[in-house]
Amino acid sequence: MLAHVPHIADLKQPFAPQEAAIEANRCLFCFDAPCMLACPTHIDVPRFIKKIATGNLKGSAATILEANVLGLSCSRVCPVDVLCEGACVMHRYNRQPIEIGKLQRHAMERFYDSGAIMPLPVSPARTQRVACIGAGPASLACAAELRRQGYAVTIFDARPLAGGLNTYGVAEYKFRPSDSQREVEFIRSLGVEFRTCQAVGADLPLEKIEKEFDAIFLGVGLGPTEKLNIPGEELEGVVDAVTFIAAYKTSAEVSVGRNVVVIGAGNTAIDAAVASKLLGAEQVTIAYRRTEADLPAFDFEYEHAKKAGVRFLWRALPARIEGLDRVTGIELMRMQAGSPPQPVPGSNFIVECDSVIVALGQTKLARMLGPDCGIQFSAGCVVVNSATGQSANPRYFAGGDCVNGGREVVDAAAEGKRAGLGIGAWLTCL
Ligand SMILES: Cc1cc2nc3c(=O)[nH]c(=O)nc-3n(C[C@H](O)[C@H](O)[C@H](O)COP(=O)(O)OP(=O)(O)OC[C@H]3O[C@@H](n4cnc5c(N)ncnc54)[C@H](O)[C@@H]3O)c2cc1C
Repeated sequence: MLAHVPHIADLKQPFAPQEAAIEANRCLFCFDAPCMLACPTHIDVPRFIKKIATGNLKGSAATILEANVLGLSCSRVCPVDVLCEGACVMHRYNRQPIEIGKLQRHAMERFYDSGAIMPLPVSPARTQRVACIGAGPASLACAAELRRQGYAVTIFDARPLAGGLNTYGVAEYKFRPSDSQREVEFIRSLGVEFRTCQAVGADLPLEKIEKEFDAIFLGVGLGPTEKLNIPGEELEGVVDAVTFIAAYKTSAEVSVGRNVVVIGAGNTAIDAAVASKLLGAEQVTIAYRRTEADLPAFDFEYEHAKKAGVRFLWRALPARIEGLDRVTGIELMRMQAGSPPQPVPGSNFIVECDSVIVALGQTKLARMLGPDCGIQFSAGCVVVNSATGQSANPRYFAGGDCVNGGREVVDAAAEGKRAGLGIGAWLTCL
């Protein structure tokens, strides 16, 4: 086993000031701004880019933060190819889209480097109190919006560090836990209280929160990774992708095998596979039961994995993990095309490995809510009003992965803000 390498370099380099100015001046500042429509938080992209072009970096950061308090993380982790940059009009002229993500990063990093001093306008203090459960992007955005309206907000999280998957999940080559903490500190500076190491339901009964707070926002994200349910899954050397990524990002102890097999082919599988390579694994193979054409990961993530040297095995279904007390290999079966694809009898083969990372997608997590909570669920996700984020129990609002079933940071930020506005409107009417 190889030791943890504490520093993984950034995937993308930031702009130098002059490069940012040149790129900002390429923008056409379209009046109908398709980039702004494509962003779930509707950042006024032409406006913030214009401010970079005129050297007003603080003003640029203010424009971004006004729409999206997680402007820093979104500039680093957003799949811009399918969002703002994918909508850029430059595509129509067969030219490179404006590098909106990198420009946003430029403005936001200058803002944080200069001390992150920009109190967002806060309305006069109100007496009502709101609890946000979970300290991920959804709750952070909700809390910031509520502080802006003058409400007292407390965020509870089971983990020691706030930031949710921005801290513990997103690959380190995109966004570091230390950067995530800069964003958390900015939100703390708005007057939000954080209570970490508090698992609601286990350490802290929900009834206690209900007594103390007027409204509750659920931003609990998703649960543990789905199981493979095959023999050998309990062997040492088998780990789920979310645990593996959290460990290498925040602990000095993690190690990776020399020969790693990742099961699944979504964005999380790609992150785990690329991270394994960067941590020193000699051979990393992604095994996926369907074909290349069915790959659920974004195209740019797939290209990134191939460039990093990750190998892909298509139509391969895990049947058994081999080993006495730790993993020595994985038995896979060939799948034949069809819907759903079927395993081909007798097609079993073994891939030798000393580490298996399971990246099958996460389970739904709203277990802390008892059957009488009055909240409706659909396929394990909390059902909310699409304009306000309010659930069937009027005191409860929700947003982020626990509502949308697992999307992107920017969706969680948008849904958290929406619920913040919804909670404010509801509390005003009480
Ligand atoms: C490995 C991985 C990589 C990803 N990479 C990207 C990426 O590159 N770009 C991108 O845009 N998106 C990415 N995503 C998706 C993105 O991280 C999520 O969509 C986003 O973080 C969802 O935010 P959230 O606030 O809903 O939930 P989370 O970020 O999951 O936060 C939920 C928080 O709730 C806490 N919690 C849960 N239960 C309780 C409880 N009972 N009591 C107290 N606290 C509780 C958890 O500890 C956690 O901190 C990735 C996801 C994963 C798993």
